[in-house]
Amino acid sequence: MEFSNSQITKETDRLFKNLSKTNWSKSDCKIIAPITLEINKLKKEKDTIILTHSYMTPDLMYGIADFIGDSYGLSKLASETKAKTILFCSVYFMAETAKILNPKKTVIVPAIAGCSLAESITPEDVQNMRKKYPTAGIVCYVNTSAAVKAECDVCCTSSNALKIIEAMPQKKIIFLPDALMAKNLQPLTKKQLISWHGTCIVHEEFSPKTVDEIRIEYPNVKILAHTECNPAVIAKVDMAGGTEGMIKYIENTNTKKFMLVTECGLTDRIKVEYPNKQIVGSCALCPYMKKIMLKDVLQVLKSPRKDQIIDLPADVMKKAKKSLDRMVKIVEKSK
Ligand code: SF4
Repeated sequence: MEFSNSQITKETDRLFKNLSKTNWSKSDCKIIAPITLEINKLKKEKDTIILTHSYMTPDLMYGIADFIGDSYGLSKLASETKAKTILFCSVYFMAETAKILNPKKTVIVPAIAGCSLAESITPEDVQNMRKKYPTAGIVCYVNTSAAVKAECDVCCTSSNALKIIEAMPQKKIIFLPDALMAKNLQPLTKKQLISWHGTCIVHEEFSPKTVDEIRIEYPNVKILAHTECNPAVIAKVDMAGGTEGMIKYIENTNTKKFMLVTECGLTDRIKVEYPNKQIVGSCALCPYMKKIMLKDVLQVLKSPRKDQIIDLPADVMKKAKKSLDRMVKIVEKSK
């Protein structure tokens, strides 16, 4: 696709307005301008909505996305649009959730990207846990495959996990697959949590020492961490929660300086969307999320390969939807 010099200049300026806040130069923006122009033109022609997770790179979030957010929030949002196709820039299990919640729409992914948490457990593992602990309820975090969700009683997100655990009738709860999140939740509930051994390779890397060092260097800083981090880290921070919870906290707190103990995509979002707030310390990159690039988005939009179209067996969709619906019912009832 050919674009005129004035179209490229206009697009470069549009990109630079946001991307400059994450250290992109004008010439970097000029290089990607023809690609973002083509993607934005094609997505309209192909009646496609582009969702990008907050852990994507800034060129995806601010160059081509219609919506940016967390996995479950984006999937729900997708149900409200009329677009025929959902292009989900995220790891694979998130696109599966979008398909479960939007069965009539075509859901496509730019790359087949895994996740250390989702890949730590199979449906057979869940069945074996059920056999081993027949009286326990099974709660699974949304960071699981559709097939695993289908074997659980109810799903949860990082923000409603405790609410879901408390609402279950059983005293014993199998909490899957994040071992560290289960450890963070155990002191908050009287129920007995039985955990799996999955971890997020991004969040498990942070150490309490880093938090201590940042507090010494920036005495007025507020430190926020994802609940996928180690309990020793969580014990030292001002707030622990999921992506959207962290954004709300920053929005509603007068403090200017924050450290985000999480993936770098969220740090980029804060730099762009809350320019009056300062981010200190370092973040971590998710190798799975960062697999997705603009060129992949263009390719899948032009002509998706079979493996880029989410296709789930009907029984898995039905059972996984039940787990997600139960979560929504519990959350709605508690309002
Ligand atoms: S950040 Fe962690 S949980 Fe999220 S996709 Fe990457 S590995 Fe999975």
